[in-house]
Amino acid sequence: MRCLEYEPLAPYTSWRIGGPARYFVQATGAAELVQALTWADQRDLPVFVLGGGSNVLIRDTGFNGLVVRVRGHDMRLETRGDEARAIVESGAPMAGTARRLARQGWAGLEWAEGLPGTIGGALYGNAGCYGGDIATSLERAWVLVNGETQEWSVERFAFGYRTSALKRMRADADSVSARHPPIILAAAFRLRRDDLTALAQRMERTSHERRSKTPWGASCGSVFKNPPGESAGRLIEAAGLKGMRIGNAEIAARHANYIINLGGASSDDVLRLIDLARERVLAMTGIELELEIQIVG
Ligand SMILES: Cc1cc2nc3c(=O)[nH]c(=O)nc-3n(C[C@H](O)[C@H](O)[C@H](O)COP(=O)(O)OP(=O)(O)OC[C@H]3O[C@@H](n4cnc5c(N)ncnc54)[C@H](O)[C@@H]3O)c2cc1C
Repeated sequence: MRCLEYEPLAPYTSWRIGGPARYFVQATGAAELVQALTWADQRDLPVFVLGGGSNVLIRDTGFNGLVVRVRGHDMRLETRGDEARAIVESGAPMAGTARRLARQGWAGLEWAEGLPGTIGGALYGNAGCYGGDIATSLERAWVLVNGETQEWSVERFAFGYRTSALKRMRADADSVSARHPPIILAAAFRLRRDDLTALAQRMERTSHERRSKTPWGASCGSVFKNPPGESAGRLIEAAGLKGMRIGNAEIAARHANYIINLGGASSDDVLRLIDLARERVLAMTGIELELEIQIVG
């Protein structure tokens, strides 16, 4: 494994924002991950696990510890008649995996067409869209906890709306810089045989719908979770913030729950828009918007 120093993190994120990691490694498989964590431990460094970087806002000051980017992306298919199980390493792209399986006639993950990020990131935040989510597709997963690989059932993840036991643990540790975060190594998904054409058509519909709704530009998708019975985007729009700019960041005119990096935005530009949206929505409705994204550093 090659350890880089002061590696800029912005290129590893979909927002294209973020200062350097003091140390940065890309790791494949449990052995390399254990090696990286041990190395960090010996130097008393906090660790942050990065997947596809599509749900994180990394501060411009970067991360003063070790960033481990999970890269393993192998897939194994176990088939039995019209049913199958795909065992996929956590660094594999979520949408790419769904597409790859659909092309072989396996249904179950087509809702994830166009979803940015990795399998690991999707499990961590119970990603979901277009009628599906991780909670309903996952069979089990393997998680590296304190140097040991544990098999986790779906129940153990205790998935909720855009959350999981892992995400709650991290929140309880009061900052994402908590030492030794558990790392998802691989996941098993249940699949069923389906007609190739029907599958391709479903995925094309999802892709079309996603393209028609997604604002153009570098973003992290939805910044806030939808409050119960409400849409965060509609609340921010009603607060008059569509198109609001601070520095080089903008609340998207097409979808107010997206903040777009217009080019060269700082993490502070985004954080100030986040604060503004929260303040205005709270003052107008009494509703406190909760972040869906993770702030790092
Ligand atoms: C344009 C756009 C559209 C989007 N649309 C949707 C949508 O429709 N639905 C939706 O749910 N989300 C959506 N998102 C958000 C994002 O795609 C998901 O949250 C995605 O699952 C994040 O995966 P990631 O690999 O990029 O995670 P990252 O951003 O790299 O990390 C997110 C969190 O997961 C943790 N993590 C990542 N990998 C692992 C691992 N292997 N083990 C342990 N922890 C890990 C990280 O530490 C971090 O806390 C969208 C984002 C964009 C940019």
